[in-house]
Amino acid sequence: MRGLLIDTCCGPCAMSALREFASPAWELRFLFYNPNVHPFQEYRRRLEAFEELMSKEGRTYTVFPYQPEEWIRAVAYREESRCEICYRLRLRRVADLALEEGYPAVTTTLLASPYQDHDLLHLLGASICRSRGLEFVVWDGRETYRAVLEEARNRGMYTQPYCGCILSERERYDRRRKGASAPKNRGGQA
Ligand code: SF4
Repeated sequence: MRGLLIDTCCGPCAMSALREFASPAWELRFLFYNPNVHPFQEYRRRLEAFEELMSKEGRTYTVFPYQPEEWIRAVAYREESRCEICYRLRLRRVADLALEEGYPAVTTTLLASPYQDHDLLHLLGASICRSRGLEFVVWDGRETYRAVLEEARNRGMYTQPYCGCILSERERYDRRRKGASAPKNRGGQA
């Protein structure tokens, strides 16, 4: 068995990773570290959906304390590059935990979503993992994304309407900002 630590954005994308890494060859553990999700009640809804899934599936996981200040300080005055900064923040955290806990490989459920920048995630994941002697495992859940969301809704799981940060929430709901220049995953689900 090979240990794989999975950075996890939400319950539905964790379902996608469970499908992808269903082989018993993997020993999976999930990490919920999302300082990029605002406001707190939204964070709590996503966390509850994630924990319920983990409990139903009998999976091991870790939740880092919620500190939105980490995301806010990281992107302040660099909002146009916020997604790259946000990816780095989360990938570094999962890679550091993998090093501490002896996991040889990491990945992220962001690769389940058609709203995220997969090329950038591959680049950052590979670079962050290389510098720590870890493997970044690439996969692609985009083709089954809609089907997984549907399944999540049928199971009564919460599915979020925007990516996570307060800026993506505004871009999702402020019609005047539609089409305005913004990171690739503006307004989409994570
Ligand atoms: S839009 Fe999503 S990926 Fe980009 S900074 Fe906000 S939460 Fe992070």
